[in-house]
Amino acid sequence: MKRAAPGEFEIIREYFAGAPIGEGVVLGIGDDCALLQPPAGALLATSVDTLVADRHFPASADPAAIAARALRVNLSDLAAMNAQPLWFTLALTLPHSDADWLQAFADGLLQTAKTYGVALVGGDTTCGPLSLTIQVTGSSQKPLRRDGARVGDAIYVSGELGASAAALPLVLGQKLAGKAEMEAAERAFYYPEPQLVTSAAIGGFASSALDISDGLLADLGHICAASGVSADVDMHALPVAPLARQLAGERALELAATGGDDYQLCFTVPQQQVATLEKLGLDAVCIGTIVEGRGEVHAWLDGERWFPEAAGYEHF
Ligand SMILES: [Mg+2]
Repeated sequence: MKRAAPGEFEIIREYFAGAPIGEGVVLGIGDDCALLQPPAGALLATSVDTLVADRHFPASADPAAIAARALRVNLSDLAAMNAQPLWFTLALTLPHSDADWLQAFADGLLQTAKTYGVALVGGDTTCGPLSLTIQVTGSSQKPLRRDGARVGDAIYVSGELGASAAALPLVLGQKLAGKAEMEAAERAFYYPEPQLVTSAAIGGFASSALDISDGLLADLGHICAASGVSADVDMHALPVAPLARQLAGERALELAATGGDDYQLCFTVPQQQVATLEKLGLDAVCIGTIVEGRGEVHAWLDGERWFPEAAGYEHF
């Protein structure tokens, strides 16, 4: 039997007020504002992201998976800056108040929050088409930025690329697949791993970094534009995810280069720091070099320029 639909105040109290209290939370959910104490000497890093049903995820998706993805994607932005997660707020717009949906959503959200040690400190609920906005705040002693890449720096990518983009047609129900493939696709799309450990490891010496959300080549272009340089990328060096090969076949390499939603890090390292990086044994590979130029990314395959059929994801 379905439980009665809760009202706004009840939603916050019943589903989210039990959120774990985190570091620096003087006063959490329940008053007009949260009161937060930043760590001494650190910079605060803050970022906000909105996910809209049927634009960023199917409205019918598992609410726990939607919640997990929304928070993980935001935490990825903190990882991109070498910031440790502290707090987040949630604005939730729901077409109707559904107790079962809310319980699953809150469980998924608070479980993810616990995994990454980030505390929910405030929220708002409204009636309307399904969408959610999360704002995260973290602290950083050594922030990584996009504008520090210099000519000669080595370009690295963490983890594997292309899985989420290859999974998207399955997640959207545009392509049918077996149970195992479907589960792997949902895992790749809804549960990206924010690269907080890698980011903390490279924070002391990387010259620039960002997280790959729009596609490697497009995002690397952002580093190049901000830094006033260009990049040469060896397509053979891209760490193509086995799932991308399995789901997308010959298109896997293109998806690794341009597909997006990877939430891996792309970062640059001065040549004199490459040995330091390699000694750490991180899951990261060198894919190219920063060269002189004006914000262009040149991809190379077998000695020839390689061009994608589709450019990186643009929202509008
Ligand atoms: Mg980002």
